[in-house]
Amino acid sequence: MACVSYPYEAPVSQSLYDRAAVVTPGGVNSPVRAFRAVGGTPRFIVSGAGPYLTDADGREYVDLVCSWGPMILGHAHPAVTDAVRAAVSRGTSFGTPGPGEVELAEEIVARIAPVDQVRLVSSGTEATMSAIRLARGFTGRAKVVKFAGCYHGHVDALLAAAGSGVATFGLPDTPGVTGAQAGDTLVLPYNDLAAVAAAFEAHPGEIACVITEASPGNMGVVPPREGFNAGLKELCERHGALYISDEVMTGFRVSKAGWYGIDGVVPDLMTFGKVMGGGFPAAAFGGRADVMAHLAPAGPVYQAGTLSGNPVATAAGLAQLRLLDDAAYERLDAVSAEVRSLVAEALAGEGVAHRIQTAGNMFSVFFTDEEVVDYAAARRQESFRFTAFFHEMLARGVYLPPSAFEAWFVSTALDDTAVERIAAALPAAARAAARAGESAEAGA
Ligand code: PLP
Repeated sequence: MACVSYPYEAPVSQSLYDRAAVVTPGGVNSPVRAFRAVGGTPRFIVSGAGPYLTDADGREYVDLVCSWGPMILGHAHPAVTDAVRAAVSRGTSFGTPGPGEVELAEEIVARIAPVDQVRLVSSGTEATMSAIRLARGFTGRAKVVKFAGCYHGHVDALLAAAGSGVATFGLPDTPGVTGAQAGDTLVLPYNDLAAVAAAFEAHPGEIACVITEASPGNMGVVPPREGFNAGLKELCERHGALYISDEVMTGFRVSKAGWYGIDGVVPDLMTFGKVMGGGFPAAAFGGRADVMAHLAPAGPVYQAGTLSGNPVATAAGLAQLRLLDDAAYERLDAVSAEVRSLVAEALAGEGVAHRIQTAGNMFSVFFTDEEVVDYAAARRQESFRFTAFFHEMLARGVYLPPSAFEAWFVSTALDDTAVERIAAALPAAARAAARAGESAEAGA
């Protein structure tokens, strides 16, 4: 990595990070939080309000991560916090069915036409893991097709992912995932229908499902090419496999009905998380009634959870979803367009090669001229420029995802003042991106 300066110290965050590293592997509870890709001290956040986060050193940031998607109304939205307070005061978990989970399931089914029935779980990982088990149980087949660069949580079978040639054959690339666990996973290049057709030809009657991010955001934002999702659906139908659309990131974010609301391709199963939990652990999988009927206790495929449909999480999710009307999505689209044009203007002004790719109001900035259509192209970008850009934005009070391979997330709380702060930070960040690598080259 080229020389990067960290313009502001964060001593209280640093001391928390030091303490955390003693009692937690790597000092964090989810790897990307550790700033490993960009270096420097991860900010320990103590509070959030509207579009802002405040760290343990008392510094405020405009938040363009939004907890990796869920905080679509901004932080501590009064309607959500009121619903949570009311729910907590009634008790926090009963291990029985309750009215909140019925209402949340009804809200999801009402919004997303292909979902006849839904099962609530506590994380996106559980949702994709369970959807795959159900697809295997329903079809009686073992193999799963996934795409390089798509992330579906840390499900063993789906961590065969990194896009190298050997990954095509499902070799595990995370220690702890055995060959047996990953051996039924076929990893294919994204946006390549011919590769999917070839996999079906090579494994007749063996593929249970194709799982794809509805519009990928986990290699940066790489939308499906025109006809890609429809082509997947068609191939699955022809070969008796299920088409699983992972909308954990896009669901309820890019439209009222998520990416399905944009491209209209009807999946057999879908997975959700993030926005639907209002900042609490709630996620779901759902789809065709005849497939969902195979799930216990209605059918033989087992799936369960002590905290599934938790009353506080469902109250938060419902309160958030009920505020996400057409006007909210218009606001999200508008503010996303505003931020994107500011970023483009600043980078173009400094002559920095870049490409901003969008999926509805989700977007990411690739430091490259080339259109990014798959994981291999995403990895060809000059990510060292992102590192320099990231730290200058952070120093000027704008919190971006700490990796060049992540989506940026906006909220309805981003008002003119917050956007002005972003605009004010951009010129220095763009300059830093332009200069990144100079000192390394000079020293070489
Ligand atoms: N699927 C997608 C598309 C995701 O983006 C994520 C998380 O980022 C997951 C699944 C896993 O969700 P969780 O982190 O809640 O387990």
